[in-house]
Amino acid sequence: MTASKQRVSYFYQPDVGHFYYGPSHPMKPHRITMAHHLILSYGLYRKMECYRSHPASSQEMTAFHSEDYINFLSKVNPDNLRLHTNHMQRFNVGEYTDCPVFDGLYEFTQLYTGASLDGAVKLNRGDCDVAVNWSGGLHHAKKSEASGFCYVNDIVLAILELLKVHARVLYIDIDVHHGDGVEEAFYCTDRVMTFSLHKYGDFFPGTGHIKDTGAREGTGYSVNAPLTSGMTDDAYERIFKPVMDRIMDVFRPGAIVLQCGADSLTGDRLGCFNLSLRGHGECVRYTKSFNVPTLVLGGGGYTIRNVARCWAYETSVLLDVELPDEIPYNDYFEYYAPDFKLHLTPETRENMNTEASLDSVRVDLLTQLMSLRGAPSVQMAEIPPDFEVMKEEAMSDMERGSTTTRDEQRAGGGMGMNDGGSGDDKRTDRSLTKDGRGERREHEAELAG
Ligand SMILES: [Zn+2]
Repeated sequence: MTASKQRVSYFYQPDVGHFYYGPSHPMKPHRITMAHHLILSYGLYRKMECYRSHPASSQEMTAFHSEDYINFLSKVNPDNLRLHTNHMQRFNVGEYTDCPVFDGLYEFTQLYTGASLDGAVKLNRGDCDVAVNWSGGLHHAKKSEASGFCYVNDIVLAILELLKVHARVLYIDIDVHHGDGVEEAFYCTDRVMTFSLHKYGDFFPGTGHIKDTGAREGTGYSVNAPLTSGMTDDAYERIFKPVMDRIMDVFRPGAIVLQCGADSLTGDRLGCFNLSLRGHGECVRYTKSFNVPTLVLGGGGYTIRNVARCWAYETSVLLDVELPDEIPYNDYFEYYAPDFKLHLTPETRENMNTEASLDSVRVDLLTQLMSLRGAPSVQMAEIPPDFEVMKEEAMSDMERGSTTTRDEQRAGGGMGMNDGGSGDDKRTDRSLTKDGRGERREHEAELAG
């Protein structure tokens, strides 16, 4: 135990894992239930405050999203699709996109968004130092458009909430995909710095060029580390840590939002990096070491047994607890076969990022950050009120020891059988980098599908 122990609040809504994108869709909300049960079986709930989060209202969502888009999401369902054909094209939703209309879609967005907002409110009140919502982190959603399996951008909404209290918020994104929706929302402001490390080139969403650094007042405040396949723990750390040091030095954020997309792990169904849990979790540990109020979110992650491993491990990192490598018995124990171990071994394959390419990215980013004049400040006459008084409910009775429902089994793809192969990544690419230099490409898996 360290002397400067941080108070951690955990937000979860037991229904969030029951939603189902469709049989061949790689996004499985069931992974949130699996992560939760792993966290419970390791006993981590005893070391943090656990809350059942509230479902976000449409009013909360329109703090960022357009009213017609949220109105559409709240009305469309698999039975009335035909009434909404025009809107579906306009909002990039439906069977020809990567964002299907499934049963309970709007409720799903309410649940993951409400948990991120609750975390932000709790941090703003100083009631905790770290807030965690593994169901959040849907970084591709745009103001009036769904994208990359994301419909409502809970991250942008949580950052807007944090900006009511904090002059500057840092967003960090370690998902294998570029955090385009968050970057775009804050591209022209110096009050939010976005730092995304991602695979770039021939990969969804196509944005995140190193020269996309922001515009107008936000020039220099978008930080992009474009990388290629095979990133190892060591290589990742050699970019992450020096850039973080410089960011904390020049930007001095009052709060941090950390998106922990687990598709940057080795063996991900859609990703192509080669990180272990320790390498991925080191970013969490390092971010936490700055002792700034932090909202920790999930994100991508398509080999669901590894997603659960990752977020349970990162919960332990936030709590300064060592976990035994043996997976404790829990409702989803069979998913962790054949080894039933927590940690992952990276694959023996080449890191396509060369020493020279990594040095070049690091040097370019440090140079970009050096040119910032220093931390900007804003005058805040009055702190605006919270969205709503939070309905906090102790989670003591929540989902502990419950049995697996048929829906959960189905959502899990039959004990992880659908974890392999990337033939059904249906993600489409509709975006360009801000300066048009980014490649407009699709993930190669989509071409196979
Ligand atoms: Zn991703």
